[in-house]
Amino acid sequence: MEVIELKNADKNFPGLVKEFGGHNLLACYQCGTCSSDCPVSTELFYRIRRIMRRAALGLKDRVLPEKDIWYCTTCFTCFDRCPQEANPTDVVLALRRLAAREGYTPQASRNTSANITKLGHAVPSLEEIEAKREAMGLPARPPTAASYPEAIEEIQKVIKKRGIPEIIRFNMEKMELEE
Ligand code: SF4
Ligand code: SF4
Repeated sequence: MEVIELKNADKNFPGLVKEFGGHNLLACYQCGTCSSDCPVSTELFYRIRRIMRRAALGLKDRVLPEKDIWYCTTCFTCFDRCPQEANPTDVVLALRRLAAREGYTPQASRNTSANITKLGHAVPSLEEIEAKREAMGLPARPPTAASYPEAIEEIQKVIKKRGIPEIIRFNMEKMELEE
């Protein structure tokens, strides 16, 4: 059994989680309903109850660098069923925001954010799909941001204003992710 030293806990961490959207973190009384209903828990050793506990104890270094917080599908099952209305989904999202600011964004999420920044779409348009669309008499690209450079510029303005390039380490001049 692993012993966790609470002397290393950050007492300000629960307040920070609250500030970033996990308003009811401290309402959790560890009943485990969230973990027992979570669809991810049946597939992986992922326990939302454990994340709630570690965050409430201020074990920042045991939560933010961990991959676990990125496994949640945000299905909101735990949110609906928590008897304490601790809103675990909100807590996970708050933890992701904090983790991203500390440079722990997973590569897949960085790639998705880079696609949105460059192309206005999370999933880029593929040549083979464009060819099929044209063969069916449709424009190669659907009438979304991907077809309107001015819309992509607007998206980029919002992304810059929110400080996303710094968070995901994206070079806006070269339009590519940095290492
Ligand atoms: S978040 Fe809610 S459901 Fe999950 S352990 Fe805490 S009180 Fe129970
Ligand atoms: S929102 Fe996330 S943590 Fe909650 S039940 Fe769904 S997958 Fe599990």
